[in-house]
Amino acid sequence: DAVIHLENILKSYHMGNNDLQVLKGVSLNIFKNEYVALMGPSGSGKSTLMNILGCLDTPSGGKYVLSGHDVSTMEDNELARIRNQEIGFVFQQFNLMPRLTALENVAVPLIYAGVSKKEREDKARAMLEKVGLGERYKHRPNELSGGQCQRVAIARALVNDPSLILADEPTGNLDSKTSVEIMDIFGNIHASGNTVVLVTHEEDIAEHARRIVRLRDGVIESDKLNEIKSAVS
Ligand code: ADP
Ligand code: ADP
Repeated sequence: DAVIHLENILKSYHMGNNDLQVLKGVSLNIFKNEYVALMGPSGSGKSTLMNILGCLDTPSGGKYVLSGHDVSTMEDNELARIRNQEIGFVFQQFNLMPRLTALENVAVPLIYAGVSKKEREDKARAMLEKVGLGERYKHRPNELSGGQCQRVAIARALVNDPSLILADEPTGNLDSKTSVEIMDIFGNIHASGNTVVLVTHEEDIAEHARRIVRLRDGVIESDKLNEIKSAVS
């Protein structure tokens, strides 16, 4: 089953009298339990494509089916609902709420999903355990290291059991040792059956994925299985 089905996706921005064509016909299928790195030079359209994949933006043309839902024709409110149900986001800047504890941050998506307080706490605790942060659930972001904050953000992305995890430069703010720890967590998430798409411009980080898709000037330049990773398991 395709989690992501993109058919000739177009995206342009109006710049005064001109249209800037940023995505020029992107077609791509990503199946359940794939682990994909999206790479490409600055300006090639990675963020634009991730915004579309994450239902934060809609394409100017083409078709996007996310887990069986045709999202290319959806209105904003419907899109927001799908986004909450189907997608877990991980950002470079963590995007945690500073006044909430780790546990409360992880539980936020469950509030929108209408889950009871007790169940929210149980699920959030379990997710924090899963990312190796079970002990620090009462800490606030400013009492946690960058790597620990990113673990909280990953736990939050997972808590709704989404069909797709999207990560935009998740190690961009971390030192190399911490980056490896975070990539190990993504490896575990993938191993436990999740579908992961991450944007990175670092080859070392992309090597953790099983498939590497490269964008250039708004089109897919190459799409290859990662031989190294595919060979070891
Ligand atoms: P990447 O993430 O690969 O660096 P982006 O998707 O951010 O690429 O940008 C691709 C191109 O689209 C760039 O030329 C960028 O300036 C332009 N762009 C991105 N977002 C917008 C926007 N909201 N309005 C106008 N132009 C944009
Ligand atoms: P990234 O580092 O992830 O590629 P950018 O710095 O390119 O992000 O862009 C940051 C934000 O600004 C994005 O949401 C993008 O859509 C928007 N953006 C990028 N280029 C332009 C532009 N030329 N005009 C308006 N918005 C832009």
